[in-house]
Amino acid sequence: MERQKHREDFGTGNGTTHLKWTCGGYNWPLVRETADSHQRRNMADLKIKTNSGTTASFQEEDLAELMMSLRGPLLRPEDAAYEPARHVYNGMFAGRHPGAILRARSTADVIDAVRFAANHDLVVAVRGGGHSVAGNSICDDGLIIDLTELNGIHLDRKAGTVRVQGGATWGDVDRETQAFGLATPGGVVSTTGIGGLTLNGGIGWLRNKHGLSCDNLVSAEVVTASGELITASAAENPDLFWALRGGGGNFGVVTSFEFKVHPVGPIVPAALVMYPLAEAANVLRKWRDWLPDAQEDITSNAIPFTVPVSEHMPPPVHGQQVLIIAGVYPGDVEEGLRLIQPLRELGTPLFDMSGPLPFRAMQSSFDFFFPLENPLISYWKSIYLNELGDDAIEILAEAANNRTSELSMINIVHLGKGVRSVGAKETAFGERTASFMISLDANWRDTTGDTARHAAWARSYWDRLNPLSTGGVYLNFVGAEDKDADKLVRSAFGAQL
Ligand SMILES: Cc1cc2nc3c(=O)[nH]c(=O)nc-3n(C[C@H](O)[C@H](O)[C@H](O)COP(=O)(O)OP(=O)(O)OC[C@H]3O[C@@H](n4cnc5c(N)ncnc54)[C@H](O)[C@@H]3O)c2cc1C
Repeated sequence: MERQKHREDFGTGNGTTHLKWTCGGYNWPLVRETADSHQRRNMADLKIKTNSGTTASFQEEDLAELMMSLRGPLLRPEDAAYEPARHVYNGMFAGRHPGAILRARSTADVIDAVRFAANHDLVVAVRGGGHSVAGNSICDDGLIIDLTELNGIHLDRKAGTVRVQGGATWGDVDRETQAFGLATPGGVVSTTGIGGLTLNGGIGWLRNKHGLSCDNLVSAEVVTASGELITASAAENPDLFWALRGGGGNFGVVTSFEFKVHPVGPIVPAALVMYPLAEAANVLRKWRDWLPDAQEDITSNAIPFTVPVSEHMPPPVHGQQVLIIAGVYPGDVEEGLRLIQPLRELGTPLFDMSGPLPFRAMQSSFDFFFPLENPLISYWKSIYLNELGDDAIEILAEAANNRTSELSMINIVHLGKGVRSVGAKETAFGERTASFMISLDANWRDTTGDTARHAAWARSYWDRLNPLSTGGVYLNFVGAEDKDADKLVRSAFGAQL
């Protein structure tokens, strides 16, 4: 009421509507004329889709109050910065054009964005690191609440926590924490956002010692759908806190995450061994047999893939089909090198890159494979197995050899103590008992009609593994779902299909 009493709109006579605040007999101008607003006067109305399917149309004066408050820009299709801002990791969605992108620079920007969207019933997508393989952070015609500039980090060494704003990437977090030999469990590609990854779980190189990313969450600040800022922790709003740990980005916009940090590195003993793909079944069996006896803090993955011709990969294996066996021990380097030695002796390696490695290098060792420019087109499908039986290994070896694209890979992830020791009901994360998570990652670049073939590769081997599975899927490794895939692909590639 107080706000209404003082606030009035008034025109300037040149087409721009300003806001004033009446106080002490003076009309305080709240919106100032800028080169930008001057230029915008002649622009077409801003159009954003609503949840009821209509289009809301905004003239400059309709946006004046929002613009007055925002620190970040509201990018429209005609703005130069709009085009790069609408691109996300997955090239499958390169054709999506939101109505506008609100690039938040503060929690207050997020609150205003959510309230504006709620008041006008706008279709909204929230973008963190933009790595959703399913394209959940980009939509056609709606409003994107873009958190990429909301990436501040505050490490509290005394408390053993790091507070991270909702749009930061794991590279941002590791940069700050590793400077002090600390880390919180993140993902294995440094450009991935902390937001989506944590909210759906978060499986990375520290999981078997320190659990999932979401298991290390201490509290979160959340802007709810009605635009209120609330804290979620064990003590405050515990139901929401439970839901945020594995329940996905469905409960509001998380403007900051507070994580526990642990002493890690900065040098860690790491295994990165490339075996010939032809020996995949044999090596996988030996790997599986070794895991139960392995020191329980070791985290290990097996990844069949084709080594790209890249300066980031050793020339002797360029273009070769390999099974990478990777592992990290987040403890004493000498002891760790001894503990991971068996991973280097599962067959005759084509190349062995193992040794003491900066943890940050391990955290970004696959970055080159997932470039943000000239992005891959991805369709991924995930599945959990309680055990890696010989039957599953045969299917995986066959799947690895029958990949329809050299850019496709399979991520065979061992889930050990750190993940399994959290109770099934303690968090919303859905799978605490499986020993393996497998992601069939179809990746390709051509946009000329092979989409169905590549996606069918992932689907068909997922179907073969399904009878052996727990029935669950890991939501962070899910592509555009089958029932919507045709529509999504059509809108992404249009006439090129
Ligand atoms: C190259 C690559 C590597 C990956 N590696 C791993 C890995 O090692 N481990 C793993 O577990 N997963 C991994 N993933 C999967 C990844 O965790 C998911 O794609 C995740 O959703 C990415 O989060 P993001 O913030 O980057 O994505 P976005 O596309 O920005 O967001 C994904 C979803 O989360 C929501 N969201 C994001 N931030 C917020 C926020 N602050 N508040 C509320 N909602 C939010 C979005 O609205 C969207 O629904 C990888 C994915 C890719 C493409």
